[in-house]
Order: sequence, then structure tokens, then C-alpha cells
Amino acid sequence: MSEHPNEKIMTQLIHNQWTNHSITAAVIDEKMNIIAQGETTVTETHDPTAHAEINAIREACDKLNVDKLPQDYWLYSTFEPCPLCSSAIIWSGITGVVYANNPKYRGNEENWSFISCEEVLQKGARIQEVTLIKDFMLEDIKGYFLRHTN
Ligand SMILES: [Zn+2]
Repeated sequence: MSEHPNEKIMTQLIHNQWTNHSITAAVIDEKMNIIAQGETTVTETHDPTAHAEINAIREACDKLNVDKLPQDYWLYSTFEPCPLCSSAIIWSGITGVVYANNPKYRGNEENWSFISCEEVLQKGARIQEVTLIKDFMLEDIKGYFLRHTN
């Protein structure tokens, strides 16, 4: 039985961001287990699409040997998924998304999110309906970029 949003899961991801200095995302199965966790590896892998959410989805699909995740799999991210990741969420069949921080607290880079996650998911609803929970545990992470980008 899955219940979202889950504080224990988000606490773990937020802790990972403060420790490893990367936006962190995870795919959660229907029993509330983290089956894949991703960090942003754009610079290390020279891959502009290697965002935390994409990396988590790739790993989850690889582990399960599927190209679409089963019903009731959720994605958690410490930051609002960008348009690229929001689209990947639709293609991967994710049932719901929980994110913490949002571009308002991105400091100098606040305008990078040119289409909100909510808008992408709304437009993609005819392909895949995705529940969205925004700004969950925001207080625990919103200072991150303000502190690290100046
Ligand atoms: Zn992204």
C-alpha cells in the first residue's frame, strides 16, 4: 500500500543533496522501496540529458528490464523536474511525482525552468496521468542554491 508524499524518502534524498552536492531523484516502487537513485552527472559524463531524474528512471527501467514502469511507481526529486525530465516522467509511465525545491530558490539560475513541471504534466495527461505534489519539505532544502551559487 503506497502513501505519498513520504517524509522518510524525501529526507534521505535531501540529505544526499546536502552531502554530495547534486540534485537527487529516486524511483519508488509500489511497496515504497527506493529501487533506483540518481544524481546529476551532466559534467562527468558529457551528457546534457544526464539529470538526476533521468538517471534514476534509466536505472529503474534497466533493473526491471522494462521500457515503461509498472503502475504505482513514483518519482521523488529534491528539485522541480525540468521540462526534459517532466517529459521523461510521462514516457516512463510514472504514476506520481513529489518534489521539494523549486526554481524560485535557484538564485542566479532561477529562469532555467522555462516550462514548469506542472504545465508539462498537464499537457501530457492524455498520454500518462501523473499526480503532482509540489514543494514537499521545501523548508529543508530551499536555502541550498542560494547558499551555493553566490
Ligand atoms: Zn531535468
